[in-house]
Amino acid sequence: MIRREAMRDLLELSFDELVRLLSAWGEPSYRARQVWEWVWNHLETDFARMTSLPQGLRERLAGEFQVGVPQAVAAQTDGEGTEKVLLSLGDGQAVEAVLIREEDRRTVCVSTQVGCPVGCPFCATGQAGFVRDLAPGEIAAQVLHFARELRASGERVSHVVVMGMGEPLLNYDATLRALRNLNDRRGFALGARRITLSTVGVVPGIRRLAGEGLQLNLAVSLHAPDDALRRELVPLAAKWPLGEVLAAADLYAAATGRRVSYEYVLLAGVNDTPTHARALARLLRGRLAHVNLIPFNPAPGLPYRRPSDRDVDAFRRTLVEGGVDATVRRSRGVEIGAACGQLRGARIRGATGSPPGPGQGGRPARSPGPQRGQPASGSERGGSPRAGRAPATGPRWRSERAASPPGASTLGPSTGEATP
Ligand code: SF4
Repeated sequence: MIRREAMRDLLELSFDELVRLLSAWGEPSYRARQVWEWVWNHLETDFARMTSLPQGLRERLAGEFQVGVPQAVAAQTDGEGTEKVLLSLGDGQAVEAVLIREEDRRTVCVSTQVGCPVGCPFCATGQAGFVRDLAPGEIAAQVLHFARELRASGERVSHVVVMGMGEPLLNYDATLRALRNLNDRRGFALGARRITLSTVGVVPGIRRLAGEGLQLNLAVSLHAPDDALRRELVPLAAKWPLGEVLAAADLYAAATGRRVSYEYVLLAGVNDTPTHARALARLLRGRLAHVNLIPFNPAPGLPYRRPSDRDVDAFRRTLVEGGVDATVRRSRGVEIGAACGQLRGARIRGATGSPPGPGQGGRPARSPGPQRGQPASGSERGGSPRAGRAPATGPRWRSERAASPPGASTLGPSTGEATP
């Protein structure tokens, strides 16, 4: 992102804050709406081109603000319309964002943190360590980056999934501010039901989200049907056990009427046996829930394997027979290293000549242990529930429609890694 230090990012402001700012500058009340539309609707970044504004206001805005413009410093495509970019931030850090083109959907998967403090052992981002939270403008700018690209071909971003690098509910305020700005009808106007937020199970954050009055899709990454295994795969589970996570998700479903998606990355020999499937079915049966199964995408340095297609299908069938809707998501972008954190990791390795490790923000991969024991998402256009984020392996996936029950979500952004 091109960032002039000392310049504030206009993307950080809510509409009400913009109104107050321009009022304090002595501008008439309608100016805020004009500026908002230039930034969030016309996607303009150059104040000089905001021609409906008086020259003096354009100059003052340009003197005190910038509109954060991410700079793509690396990019990969998979030939099927999935595009992953590494966007540079003003301080030299970089985050990944992904555009998934799928039939009539144009979904952007965004990151909320540089790295991730959760450290799931099957996730490239988690293994690379945590650097910092993203600011609201840095989160929204990832969406606007692809929105500008799509506009050139007359297309729009139709969905956003918060399933990239980081745990969004550990950067709650910035994430919600970015999503509210994207949702604002006066500008970008992306419906809340087209936005999916994925969490690894930050209970206070889920409870708080339930009170926001937003109809976001919530995806909760489980990855294990019991606390012991979950603590191995999702270190944060030591703080919030399954019972508390499910109770918070139930609260969210009750408060919003939205079905919760549960993400489950399938790791061969770790969490993919019929016993695990039956336990997961017992856990979720009777809940307003849907399970997104994400076969693990192997990534360099991660000691896990992808299950066979037969085992994946058997797991899904066991869930369905147990009374739980389930969909298998096909990962997109496997061939471009789309797993979350892989592009950034490759860049770090390119710069240092070695894999990320301790001392450079990295952390050694943990062994999964003796033969035992990744993200997805969705949203809706017009109304059908969909959600999900999957863990850890890479940017998102395309769901296998054949495996989906009628009305099930079809997207599945998975960005490559684990989704919290
Ligand atoms: S899977 Fe999600 S929560 Fe876990 S380390 Fe990766 S980004 Fe963080």
